Order: sequence, then C-alpha cells, then structure tokens
Amino acid sequence: MRALALHPDALLVTSALLQVNCVIVRGTVAGGYSGYSGDGEGVVQVRPSGVSGAAGTAGADVPADAPYNHGDTAVEKSDTPAAQGGAESFVIDSPVLPDELDALGALIEQAGFPAPSGLLATHGDWDHLLGRLAFPGAALGVAESTAGRLRASPGEAQRQLRSFDEELLIERPRPLALGSVQALPVPGRCDLGDRELELHPTGGHTPDGMAVLLGWAGVLVAGDYLSSVEIPSLSGGGNLEAYVATLERLRPLVAAAEHVVPGHGPIHDAAGAGAVLEEDLAYLRALAERGAEAELPPGRRGAAQRELHRANVAALSPAAPGPRAPRPRTSRER
Ligand SMILES: [Zn+2]
Repeated sequence: MRALALHPDALLVTSALLQVNCVIVRGTVAGGYSGYSGDGEGVVQVRPSGVSGAAGTAGADVPADAPYNHGDTAVEKSDTPAAQGGAESFVIDSPVLPDELDALGALIEQAGFPAPSGLLATHGDWDHLLGRLAFPGAALGVAESTAGRLRASPGEAQRQLRSFDEELLIERPRPLALGSVQALPVPGRCDLGDRELELHPTGGHTPDGMAVLLGWAGVLVAGDYLSSVEIPSLSGGGNLEAYVATLERLRPLVAAAEHVVPGHGPIHDAAGAGAVLEEDLAYLRALAERGAEAELPPGRRGAAQRELHRANVAALSPAAPGPRAPRPRTSRER
C-alpha cells in the first residue's frame, strides 16, 4: 500500500492489489482542528449539505432509532468531530487487502487527521466498498443510484468479495457488513467539517455512481473512470451512451482539477486525465461503430485489456444468436 499527500486535507492510499485508490479527506479550516481522538465507533451521519436530520438521507437499512435520526442531537456528544472545531474526515472508497485495511486507522492518525466519521463509495462494485472492514462503526454514504443498486441485489458485493478472496487465498478476520447505507442526492453537496464535497453523477461503467470533487483541494475522485491502466469497461451492467455522457460531464471538472484520482491506477494532473478522457471517448466511439474491430487505446492493449474489450463487445450485442449463458466474472472485472 502506498500513501501520498495530495493536499494538506487529502491523502491518497493505493492498494497493492488492483491498484485501487482510496482518498481520505479532512474538512477543517487551518488551525481549526483540535485533536479529535474519538474511537470511531459512533455512527455520525454522512449528510447532504443543507439537510438536517435524516430527511432526504434515510438509507436502505438505517434503523429507526439510530442516533442520526434525531437531527442535531446526534452531535451533542463532546467527543464528536462536530465539537472539535469542525474537523471531520471521510474515507472515499477503500484499499483491498486485509493488512491495508488494518493499517488505515494508524495511517490516518499519523497524518494528524481525525478518525473517520463517515465513509463514501464512488459506486457499488465490491472493491470500492470495503471501508467498513476498517471502520465497522462508520456510516457509508453512497449516491442514491448506488443505494438502489445495493438494495436491489443484497449480498452481491459480499459474494464477489468472497469469490475474489477464495481465488487469491485471502483470509479476512470478519465478513463485510455494509451497515447503515445512506443515500445521498446526486448531483448534490455533502458537508465535511466546514468544507463541502461536490457529488457528481457517473454511470456507464455500472448503472450507478458518483464522482466526488474536493473543490478546495483541487482533487477529483472519479471512481472507475479515467484509468490509464484499464480500458472503459461496460460488462458489469454498463451502458455505452451513459459512459460517454459521464466523460463529457467530467470534462470541465477534470480541466479544473489539480489531481484526478481514478478508481484504479496512477493519479493524473488535469492534462493527463484529459488525455485519458479523449482516448476513452475515441475507444467508445470506435466500439459503437466497429464493435470487436475497435482499436484499443494506446498503452492499454495487453491480454487483460483485450479480455475486457471482448466483454464490452458481448455486452453491446445482447441480440447475438443463441442464448447468452451468464458468464462468470473474472478477477480482472470489477
Ligand atoms: Zn473498481
């Protein structure tokens, strides 16, 4: 696992497996942080800006008596981040390996960040949902589209995590429980201390998702888009037109960002992310026009990428002759 400070309020953690990126973000003003040392077990609401209490945020399985259902009373405890000069931190997406998840808390502490009060996931694929293995008490905030996906296929992420772990002989101390999933309106904003995160809708790789913009830090967390190590993948229920629309929507955000963090692989500056964006658009247009004959983006033409390409072609031709047998997902697909 590699860790890198992108900004005084933003840490990047990259998993040794799948190169999954995780961003830890702190919302506070300079000097406003007074050393929150809570144990991280309290469930603090991930709430959209301007909405108090549970209105508009109730998730799929939030218990009716959860503390955050009582509006402001949930943050009256003296050891909550809200009582500590507005310092709060969120973990966006997650590393994959058990050791990496175990080390996350210490890393956050060493960086001088408050213990995470909430988790965010860019989309509902299993490899981005593991934050609760590290912080079992923290609420998980996701786009409404992702909350709907998780509700519609309960246990899917857990099953895929299990089969991935079995394939790679990974043992985990406890199973993944997603806990109280809170649906966030997207597009929208989400408070973090005295900062605000912008949530922008994404889709096309999967039917659900959001990109998270840390405007003051110049960091765009894109989810599974704009990766320089992976071609656009539609095979997990994605859609080509939606993917193109997502890239066009991300274009101005990318141009204004200092760092763009894809779901997998190296981070980019604005120019680098813009170049990947154009390559991805060119690939998707070629895929729409020429199917299997489409040329893969330069530098992403290895065996694994060609396999993803074949899966894209199959995903685009549901009317192919003969019944399509459900194809087991490979470890390369996520
Ligand atoms: Zn992913």
